[in-house]
Amino acid sequence: MTRPFNFSAGPAALPEEVLRTAAAEMLDWHGSGMGVMEMSHRGKEFISIYEAAERDLRELLAVPAQFKILFMQGGGLAENAIVPLNLSRGGAMDFVLTGSWSQKSYKEAARYGQARLAASAEADGFCHVPPPASWQIGADAQYVHLCSNETIHGVEFQALPDLRALGCEAPLVVDFSSHVCSRPIDWSRVGLAFGGAQKNLGPAGLTLVVVREDLLGHALSVCPSAFDYQLVAQNQSMYNTPPTYGIYIAGLTFQWLKKQGGVAAMEERNIAKAQLLYDYMDGSQLYVNPVDKAVRSRMNVPFFLRGDDGQPLLDPAHPRNAAFLEGAKAAGLLQLKGHKSVGGMRASIYNAMPIEGVQALVAYMREFEQRA
Ligand SMILES: *Cc1c(COP(=O)(O)O)cnc(C)c1O
Repeated sequence: MTRPFNFSAGPAALPEEVLRTAAAEMLDWHGSGMGVMEMSHRGKEFISIYEAAERDLRELLAVPAQFKILFMQGGGLAENAIVPLNLSRGGAMDFVLTGSWSQKSYKEAARYGQARLAASAEADGFCHVPPPASWQIGADAQYVHLCSNETIHGVEFQALPDLRALGCEAPLVVDFSSHVCSRPIDWSRVGLAFGGAQKNLGPAGLTLVVVREDLLGHALSVCPSAFDYQLVAQNQSMYNTPPTYGIYIAGLTFQWLKKQGGVAAMEERNIAKAQLLYDYMDGSQLYVNPVDKAVRSRMNVPFFLRGDDGQPLLDPAHPRNAAFLEGAKAAGLLQLKGHKSVGGMRASIYNAMPIEGVQALVAYMREFEQRA
């Protein structure tokens, strides 16, 4: 059976091979007589799954030794509180707003300390990244936060800023939920990176945190113990029961990524996939993506169909949008509806989406345009 192509923004499609392995091991993992969900997190079977996942991720993303890898719970949104609880030291935090997710982080952090705007692209509807040289970073900032791939607005940092070159010694905090493992990371520019697993790694419920060791140990006293990075790190992510099944599935995804040639090979494929889709849209009369070409996301491609007057049709219920989605589904192209806050369409083309899926989408879009 061939499965349809699933363009969901998250929880998103996983590599079919990962799902098949998990299915085959559901009742009996490696002759243990137990499924992974039924194992003690402190038993040797699960410890081996955990250690392999950590090792493989460290290798895939070339995470330096002075960074801890934490497998936590609560998703990206909980990190919006957990990061300030651990890193703000009761002081100020500076935020760069490039879309809904960084905006959410900024609002949540304001509950725990002084959250300030360093820069915002809101005035143009989040279609660009303000140049780092223009950011207003305070000398007393405890950290600077950005979202390196805005899942809803389709804006991606093509390089992380070098804060030191801007005269800022504060650590950079990066929400990389929706493009982790899609491209290499320059860890010399990062203090902490976090991401929910359900976009590019595994099931919802697992949150990945990669944090430089020197940032540990400064949690506010009100920080819940289970969310104190130092306690989590000291206990190898087992201060409390970690999301064991999520770690197992992410571990299978890491093995799959290694077989594909690693993150650099994935990046090449992701560039090719994104280029195919953007090039087609830019040459068409019907489809439009509003994002500055220099910062278009390789993972999340929001787009609009135009009405007969040439204007983008935001309302998903507009007959042309409804016909597009219905036809797509019939053609085996699932979950293309845009996020409710921006409307239109969105194609999420994470690591697990093969180029054939993007080719099928472009073929459908071309055929729909000819009919429209
Ligand atoms: C999905 C997403 C989140 C939120 O994750 P939850 O697991 O729903 O809390 C945060 N940031 C980004 C960039 C995301 O794509």
